[in-house]
Amino acid sequence: MSADTIDTQTVDAAGSASRLPSPTSRTSYSAIELYAPNRAPCRIDLSDNTNLWGVPPNALAGLHAAATASVTRYPALYAGALKRALAAYAGVGEQHVVTGCGSDDVLDSAMRAFAEPGERVACPTPSFAMIPIFARMNGLVPVEVPLRPDFGLDADAMLQTDARVIYVCSPNNPTGTLLERAAVERVIERAPGVVIVDEAYAEFVGGGMDGDAGFLREAAGLPNVLVVRTMSKAFGLAGLRIGYATGSAAVVAEVEKSRGPYKVNALAEQAAVAALTTDRAWVADRVRDALASRERLAGALRALGLTPLPSAANFLLVPVPDAEAIGRAMRERGVAVRPFVGLPHVGDALRISVGPWEMLEECIAALREALDTGTRH
Ligand SMILES: *Cc1c(COP(=O)(O)O)cnc(C)c1O
Repeated sequence: MSADTIDTQTVDAAGSASRLPSPTSRTSYSAIELYAPNRAPCRIDLSDNTNLWGVPPNALAGLHAAATASVTRYPALYAGALKRALAAYAGVGEQHVVTGCGSDDVLDSAMRAFAEPGERVACPTPSFAMIPIFARMNGLVPVEVPLRPDFGLDADAMLQTDARVIYVCSPNNPTGTLLERAAVERVIERAPGVVIVDEAYAEFVGGGMDGDAGFLREAAGLPNVLVVRTMSKAFGLAGLRIGYATGSAAVVAEVEKSRGPYKVNALAEQAAVAALTTDRAWVADRVRDALASRERLAGALRALGLTPLPSAANFLLVPVPDAEAIGRAMRERGVAVRPFVGLPHVGDALRISVGPWEMLEECIAALREALDTGTRH
């Protein structure tokens, strides 16, 4: 039996192989593909909206300290120390916080917690590409609802889906749009089930680190809202996989059940607590750097004759003809950005993460060359 066939056959006690139904035969899974954007290493990687200024210094020290301690024992069941630090950051009680292995884990767990297989999950389009995937992974039916042509949330169209779980993202990835508060409130007030508000980029809203931006604190007092955030973006800890959410004690308890124990590892927890308690000024400075870089990049793109969408996050979405070809040409010049093809209301576009200006200068040079090459054909 070759390695290729081993997972569709079994060997009985007498040593003979017999056909079983394929172990991949769960029908709802056959349509799910691995999440696989081009992650090949690149000299300058502006493709994933992480903190390109680096790791917060005290978080790094916390990581080193934790690494020298014993890892023979399990971490805390539900990351109690991290919850307390996040509760202080969010201005809520710790019974209103749930953590996870990245906010991806929190989003996935929330879908499982709030919808039975076969029920609908509504999400805007264009928005976070993982949501329809997580829905299918949990036996749910994703319903994609176009954003309005101005990239605002179409609250009534979202509500008309009658979905058990409604997902919205603000600032929205990949458009960068900050959703109108009133539209999100309307969805929250009328939704038949839970509303997930993904605020992965909240730290970049307004002048940056604006504690009152979004629904983080408010969610604790609302019966049907889960506000999901991450330490992967502004906080510079994507590799450690730390996500969290706030909500009523009842909502959070359901997500925690669904998530299960031991999801935040001991090293990640220690580094995250250090970042939240002693690195906030550093993070705030990097957020201000990102906002300055973003405005400068927007100006440079406009000077190339392009029209980036207004952004409230640490990235810009810029429509271009044939994004895949341009993305490839930029990669050949050592700069990775994220191409999108045929987005509703946008068409092809590149999503460019902002970082230190020297990186963005190289990006602009690579983009200019890629555009020139493209138009010469
Ligand atoms: C990056 C991102 C996430 C995932 O963050 P992790 O915490 O690293 O899993 C979630 N939602 C949106 C909108 C994102 O852009």
